[in-house]
Amino acid sequence: MKVPLLELKQQYQSIKKEVLRVAEEFFEKQYFILGPSVETLEKEISRYCASKYAVGVSSGTDALLISLMAAGIGPKDGVITTPYTFFSTAGAITRLGARPIFVDIDPDTFNLSPEGLVRVLTTMGQAERERLRAIIPVHLYGQCADMDPILKVAEDYNLVVIEDAAQAIGAEYRGRRAGSMGNYGCFSFFPSKNLGAFGDGGAVTTNSKAIDKKLRILRVHGANPKYYHRVIGGNFRLDALQAVIVSVKLKYLDGWIKTRQKNAKIYKQLFKKAGLERHIQLPVEKEDRHIYNQFVIRVKEKRDLLRQFLLSKEIGSEVYYPLPLHLQECFSYLNYPNGAFPVAEHAASHSLALPIYPELTENQLAYVVEKIRIFFSNS
Ligand SMILES: *Cc1c(COP(=O)(O)O)cnc(C)c1O
Repeated sequence: MKVPLLELKQQYQSIKKEVLRVAEEFFEKQYFILGPSVETLEKEISRYCASKYAVGVSSGTDALLISLMAAGIGPKDGVITTPYTFFSTAGAITRLGARPIFVDIDPDTFNLSPEGLVRVLTTMGQAERERLRAIIPVHLYGQCADMDPILKVAEDYNLVVIEDAAQAIGAEYRGRRAGSMGNYGCFSFFPSKNLGAFGDGGAVTTNSKAIDKKLRILRVHGANPKYYHRVIGGNFRLDALQAVIVSVKLKYLDGWIKTRQKNAKIYKQLFKKAGLERHIQLPVEKEDRHIYNQFVIRVKEKRDLLRQFLLSKEIGSEVYYPLPLHLQECFSYLNYPNGAFPVAEHAASHSLALPIYPELTENQLAYVVEKIRIFFSNS
């Protein structure tokens, strides 16, 4: 039996007719740049994410970059984030000449630890604290970071909050939607996210009219009006064809999320029944509505051997992420030593993402757990 980590062809078959119909209408109109299809999606995304405004942008990475630009982040500014995330969270900070300041993660959720945050802030030098401008909590794997204490700290220290919700569209924290809690919410429509385009795309949500306006200007090279530039922006436009596709898929998102949650529940039951808790730690749901963009287990030992064994049984898995950001070569100038963030480093060497996409059958889920059981009973 084959169990790929992610398989999008089946999902496409289920929406193909509708996608082809809207694509055909789109091609007839020959209206490719921004315009009605992007505006429609923006309204739908703002409603879905319980935010007042949404601005379609070119990718999740550009959502982060344009948010930092709108917040006025620049050279020598400090921005706090987690070292255990996709590269672009910290990449966006450094592209503006600002400095990422890392805070270790919570061992249960893999998200930025509020206690770690307080520790970093209270041990920070005066000069560094004065240059501190923003914080980017990441809602990793589809579960929100512990936002209340983070928002409290942001208020106390006067920090802009940019939520990296690229993996968490539709996730909730104490009844609040991902992307609606900070000043900016950054989303990605990369195909492997729960709401994926047929290519790259993203969005920024906000509850501020002024921020919405700034983002719209920065998205078109800072032009306002056209050909007059008071600020420097970029081409951060969401492709209109992608907007049309994402609009179709958004209608199905809640159904897909429910099935992912159901799959997670089945996995958890199967793992318990197989007595595998000695060998692996299951995902911990601490906050409301985990949307399971990834189902990530912690393998207590032999993670890489298990991964190879699964591969030999045609089961896909992935390590998100094998090297924490503070240890990346390109960030060596930040001078973080090995051991600086033990929880993130442990996660990097023990975590393993298993297939969780909605179209998986119960047989496939059972096959994955059975092979993991066999691996540990033989070793
Ligand atoms: C996917 C992702 C991004 C980047 O999104 P792209 O659309 O691929 O540019 C940023 N942050 C996190 C946490 C992500 O998972």
